[in-house]
Amino acid sequence: MWKNLKSNKSLQPKRGQTAKTNSRPAKPDCRNCGACCVGPEDFGIHADLLDEDIDRLTLHYRRTHVVHSHQWYSRRFDRTMYTDRPALASKPHADGFACVAFTGRVGGPCRCKIYERRPDICRNFEPGSPECLGARKDAKIS
Ligand code: SF4
Ligand code: SF4
Repeated sequence: MWKNLKSNKSLQPKRGQTAKTNSRPAKPDCRNCGACCVGPEDFGIHADLLDEDIDRLTLHYRRTHVVHSHQWYSRRFDRTMYTDRPALASKPHADGFACVAFTGRVGGPCRCKIYERRPDICRNFEPGSPECLGARKDAKIS
């Protein structure tokens, strides 16, 4: 899926997370999921970035992971799409096309290489939310 700024996302650590105890059902474990970090369509970009998201990245990641404008063909809309908003690039992956910062496999051990510096759109993607459960369902993760 392409995490764009119109989506509703929220914060959740993937590594070193301290689980909160409450009466609600357990949230899905991002460390064995990755469904929202990978999608079937090659957008060339994966997560839109705000200025503060770019500021949070190191110079290395700004140079290697950020796309400042991008054009791609959308199979879904059957036309060429264009964005001039900065975004994290995507890359081919065994499960489709993944965010450039994703490593591992969908539905198995995986992690975000820039977890501490991940963009707000990812911080706001809440595990267990309808969007999360939809991504997991699309990826056939129960
Ligand atoms: S789809 Fe949900 S559980 Fe899976 S990585 Fe994203 S937020 Fe975490
Ligand atoms: S920045 Fe990290 S959490 Fe966000 S889509 Fe990429 S791999 Fe997933």
